[in-house]
Amino acid sequence: MKKILAFLGLALLLLIAVVLARTALVKSRQIQAAPVTDLTVDVRGAAERLAGALRFVTVSHEAGANVEAAAFQGLHQYLEQSFPKVHATLTREPVAEHSLLYTWKGRNPGLPPLLLMSHQDVVPVEPGTEKDWTHPPFSGFIDGQFVWGRGALDDKAGVLAILEAAETLLSRGFQPERTVYFAFGHDEEVGGRRGAAALAALLAQRGVRPEFILDEGGAILDGMIPGIERPVAMVGTAEKGSLSVELTAESAGGHSSMPPPHGAIGRLAAAIEALEDHPMPARIAGATQRSFEYLAPEMPFGQRLVLANLWLFGPLAERQFASDPAGNARIRTTTAATIFQGGVKENVLPHRARAVVNFRILPGDSIAGVIQHVRDTVGPDVKLAWGGSRLATEPSGESDTGAPPFALIQKTLAQVVPGIVVSPNLLSGGTDTKHYVRLSRNIYRFAPIRMKEGDLGRLHGTNERVGIESYAEAVRFFEQLLRNAAGA
Ligand SMILES: [Zn+2]
Repeated sequence: MKKILAFLGLALLLLIAVVLARTALVKSRQIQAAPVTDLTVDVRGAAERLAGALRFVTVSHEAGANVEAAAFQGLHQYLEQSFPKVHATLTREPVAEHSLLYTWKGRNPGLPPLLLMSHQDVVPVEPGTEKDWTHPPFSGFIDGQFVWGRGALDDKAGVLAILEAAETLLSRGFQPERTVYFAFGHDEEVGGRRGAAALAALLAQRGVRPEFILDEGGAILDGMIPGIERPVAMVGTAEKGSLSVELTAESAGGHSSMPPPHGAIGRLAAAIEALEDHPMPARIAGATQRSFEYLAPEMPFGQRLVLANLWLFGPLAERQFASDPAGNARIRTTTAATIFQGGVKENVLPHRARAVVNFRILPGDSIAGVIQHVRDTVGPDVKLAWGGSRLATEPSGESDTGAPPFALIQKTLAQVVPGIVVSPNLLSGGTDTKHYVRLSRNIYRFAPIRMKEGDLGRLHGTNERVGIESYAEAVRFFEQLLRNAAGA
């Protein structure tokens, strides 16, 4: 007995020693760089140029057919007037009608080029919510602190900040060493199947192989990561896939006075509930795990201890993450029932009920795996359909955080936002980069815009706005990125 106790005591001591050693061995992965002081941004003018762009109603409609052609043409003309040096120096080509490809020729054609992406389209304003906006969604209102309007965050700020940075650099005589491309799609919000797909195909056809691609995705989070007070730049190094599965249940129909125990609606409801009750398994891996390697060293001891010892605390951490929707989305393929239809009259049993469930697929899982999971979970008498006009994408691969472009983005951020923490991240949403995966191994998804608690609801929601200072910071980031990546 004594021997056993002694052995257990020793084992416990050993365990504690290992946990503490692992915690102590966690080293910061941040890059130190002196702040740059010679970046110039016309803060007020930049905000006004952005505000002007928000007034063009470049909305992407789900149907895809009725593209707001006049709005896109208006925006293109407006960009030409607002950034004269860019349009005098770079070549601009319309692609798939409303997407834009800018080429800024480098002095050294032997160097692999650089590709910066954003999108010009925005999501519609949900009917009935217009009056909830403090300033009308397409007014491009500036209140002295913020620029208000649809697209202020997602993603006209990206388009305009890139052009603003190029215009500023051109006015200072900057010439890139390597060729720089700007690709601005026009249908990202409905999957990018026309714009981004055509842009990527054109670049591929020309043999363009970018050193790296930077698109929207992550942001600078201000006070949103527990335990870290400094701003944190979440740079997307992977993104989840997406699959919508249609479920249909059928039954005999007839008069509601003599119903069977379970009709089409009941069986479909049971299938949805089964899917919600049996989510795909959780796992801390890939870009999510990588983000802990970057964030843990910047956290207080307790959090650092847990994240440095996931071999021991993994199940605990998974439970913790699963308890909140944002955390849950980082560790598993999520299940979201988004459409449920059936029945037309109160006293008629419907023949058919239909639902759509949208899955966001964790890297490591796959479309085929999700379909198998749905089949196994809902049973044989619910029919499944997928594909067709519905967008289905496999999860992306993971971009290397050890590759030089990641360090370059890290350094640029350290130079422009002193004290910032930079972390790789898994994006739970999708971007246009899914069409570009064949062009470069180094794809990063990040827009240098500050987000505070509550701002996430403004994305695709009401009262979208960007801080004037935050926008100026984004312009400085792109200026410095271009100097670091394409300067002499
Ligand atoms: Zn976007």
